[in-house]
Formats: sequence, structure tokens, C-alpha cells
Amino acid sequence: MYLLACLGVLIFTFYLTLFYITVFYHRALTHRAIILSPGLKKFVLLTGNWLTGIEPKSWICMHRRHHLFADKPLDPHSPKHHPIPLIIWVQLKSYEKTTLMLGQNHRDYTRIVRDLDFPVHYLNRAGLWFIPHLLHLAIATVIAVKFNATLFGICYWLGMNSHPVQGWLVNAFGHSKGYRNFNTPDSSTNNLPVGYLVMGEGFQNNHHQDSRQANFSVKWWEFDAGFLICKILESMGLLKFNPRVKSRTNRTSLAA
Ligand SMILES: [Zn+2]
Ligand SMILES: [Zn+2]
Repeated sequence: MYLLACLGVLIFTFYLTLFYITVFYHRALTHRAIILSPGLKKFVLLTGNWLTGIEPKSWICMHRRHHLFADKPLDPHSPKHHPIPLIIWVQLKSYEKTTLMLGQNHRDYTRIVRDLDFPVHYLNRAGLWFIPHLLHLAIATVIAVKFNATLFGICYWLGMNSHPVQGWLVNAFGHSKGYRNFNTPDSSTNNLPVGYLVMGEGFQNNHHQDSRQANFSVKWWEFDAGFLICKILESMGLLKFNPRVKSRTNRTSLAA
């Protein structure tokens, strides 16, 4: 029973952080495929950095640069230019550089996010980016020591810090291994195992063909759990799909 609870907390925290990134940071704030209700947007900007340890504006800036320069030398994390095992390190360094450049108001970075109506999170502005990580470490330690549940505490900590692994799976394998539905100018691929495990994010080829689509799935077998969550949140009135986004065109389809 205890082991099941440990596995449960690992899976829950893995998907909680992933849900924040894929639905809120990625589909809503980066690409505006969905529009969050004002209250939810405020809540996400308040809690996102604390929960995921990832500063929203920096993540958005890095990800937009990924789309702008996909698989070209300026791509922040392309397996075309780095070995797959190193992508986890490369993306971390790129994220660090992005936070630094935004902090220094470097025009190559600030211009990419000038449309955003919120600043870099106050913790990062104050140089205190590590506080959310310390918080989760403290919670894990309390769980381990106070409740004598070391493995449970470790699983909590691993799940809350799983974003680098999620990002590595998507950025490395979603741009190198898998099949292509569309003849995009980059090396993006649809990777089924990563697509299923990482809430649709593994369908990078579909996503790069039209990044404003909230749905990353094209074929019936491509299950996009992130899109399903968007639909549920829409039915609850917490977000809406961007009415200015037209349905996906298949003009670059390889099958056409
Ligand atoms: Zn990509
Ligand atoms: Zn994207």
C-alpha cells in the first residue's frame, strides 16, 4: 500500500507540473491557442513559478525562439546540433541564458515577448529563482523526516522536478525520432510514446505545422491528453479556444 502511495504521488506530481506547462505556459500563454479566463490567468501567473520552478516569461521566450529557429543553429535545444543525451543539459543552459538576457533587457529576447502583458516573475527579478526549488525540497524533507516516509518524500520531490525530463523527451525525440504528417522546414517528428506520456507534446511535427492549434493530434491514434484537459476546462468556463485561429490546413501534408 505504501509503495502504491509513493508511485501515486510520483505520477500525480509529474502530471501536475506537466499540465501547468503544456496547457497554461505552452498552449495558452506562448501560442494563444486558448485564452484563459482573467481569474485563471492571474492564478497561473501567481502560482506557476512556485509550482513548477519554471519562470513563465522565460519559458515562453525560450520556446518562441525554438519555433523561430527550429532546428537551425539558434534553436535553444535542437538534437540536430547536440547529441540526444545532452539535450537535457542544453535546454537547462538555454533557459538560464534566456532568464539572464531578459533580465538584462537584451533586445533579441525582449522583442520576442513584448506582447505579453506581465513581467518576469518577482522572484527572478530579485535573483531568488531558487526559492521554489528550496520550498519543494523542504516539503519533501518534512514528509521524509516528520512522517518517516522517505520514499514518499523522494517521489514527491522527483515528480515536482520532472520538467527537465519531460522537456528532454519532447525536445530530443520529438525532433529526431518518429514519423512526419507534414513537410515542415524543420526536423520535427511525431513520437507516439512521448506523445502519450507527455500529454500530446510528443506530436511535434503536427505542432510545428501550425503552432496555434490547441489540438496537437491529427490522426485518430494520436491521443493528446493536454487537449482533452483544455476541453474540460472550456466546459467549466475557465478558458476558451481562440476564435481567431482557423482550423488546421493540410496543405503541407506529406500524404497530399
Ligand atoms: Zn519543437
Ligand atoms: Zn510550441
